[in-house]
Amino acid sequence: MREKILVTRSSMPSFEEYIDEIRPLWDTHWLTNMGVKHQELETQLKDYLSVPNISLFSNGHMALELAIQAMGLKGEVITTPFTFASTTHAIVRNGLEPVFCDINSEDCTIDVTKIEGLINDRTSAIIPVHVYGNVCNVEEIERIAKKYELKVIYDAAHTFGVKYKGRGIGCYGDASIYSFHATKVFNTIEGGAVSFKDEEFGLNLYRLKNFGIRGPEVVDGVGANAKMNEFQAAMGICNLRHIDKEIEKRRKVYERYIDNLSNIDGIKVPFVQNDVFPNFSYFPIIFDNKAFCATRNEVYNNLLENNIVSRKYFYPLTNTFECFHGKYDVGLTPIALNISKRVLTLPLFSELRIEDVDNICKIILNTNK
Ligand SMILES: *Cc1c(COP(=O)(O)O)cnc(C)c1O
Repeated sequence: MREKILVTRSSMPSFEEYIDEIRPLWDTHWLTNMGVKHQELETQLKDYLSVPNISLFSNGHMALELAIQAMGLKGEVITTPFTFASTTHAIVRNGLEPVFCDINSEDCTIDVTKIEGLINDRTSAIIPVHVYGNVCNVEEIERIAKKYELKVIYDAAHTFGVKYKGRGIGCYGDASIYSFHATKVFNTIEGGAVSFKDEEFGLNLYRLKNFGIRGPEVVDGVGANAKMNEFQAAMGICNLRHIDKEIEKRRKVYERYIDNLSNIDGIKVPFVQNDVFPNFSYFPIIFDNKAFCATRNEVYNNLLENNIVSRKYFYPLTNTFECFHGKYDVGLTPIALNISKRVLTLPLFSELRIEDVDNICKIILNTNK
């Protein structure tokens, strides 16, 4: 049997490059707490992502949780259930109530025509997701947020390096959260960041990732510990040197999938949106069971039998999780529910070979034949 192909494979620098990057840590013995590597990566990322300010974190989830806390939100937050567990959990763990808005069937981001109907006097923010690297309708979200005086925090975990109308994606909204998890386009092993506009918010955020410590003898926030350490930052510095090349390789894989699958009845392939500079982070396909010969689950199982691991991203929806049993009505997000049963995210990483892409597509097309 062929070697197992997983849905993603972490990008890594050469062993020697990483060793050179961490060698100075043996001189300084400064391993964490915003050291030299941390500061260096922060400066480089601010520039690469073209954002006004950025703060690094131990992971993307803590970045989101603490960004919500630093924003001082209350009551209800409008979000979508078509996302990774982290988005919804970060809201709930802050003692806030998620209010689930449906997605649009075009690009699977929040359906902006349904947001205003969910706003009431307890609503304090909108937390949309740039899902699969697709950019939300940021203009309409900004208009609504202004009109009702709501904060906007984007879950931009999938949009590392994405630009919209020539601006870094993290320039939109009050803050955006990135994930640098091993499985993402850019990784620091585990890691994350928040980009933001307001300096006062930035100070709050900085304090909250370090126990709420303001000064040597002053602790004035109930913070957590979510600092990125020097080994993570060093990995980031190395990976950032190669990121443009990596994204270019992803583009080749993405385009090969498009060539193979775009004219197949019953399979909807992703597309690059207008005015968007993409990162080719995911390749989700959506099956139409009347037109295609097999269901999503049959294709998933067939790939698995051939040692190829795809993912049902995003199934199940977060508003159907067991931990929320009976709390939310999934009937209020029918499009998200429908797509979650038909979507399959195919393997996509820079080292995936073109022959493997062709083979994956062949297996998909031959399911049930
Ligand atoms: C990966 C991811 C996160 C969480 O990031 P971690 O770095 O794994 O904590 C949050 N939201 C979305 C949509 C993600 O895909």
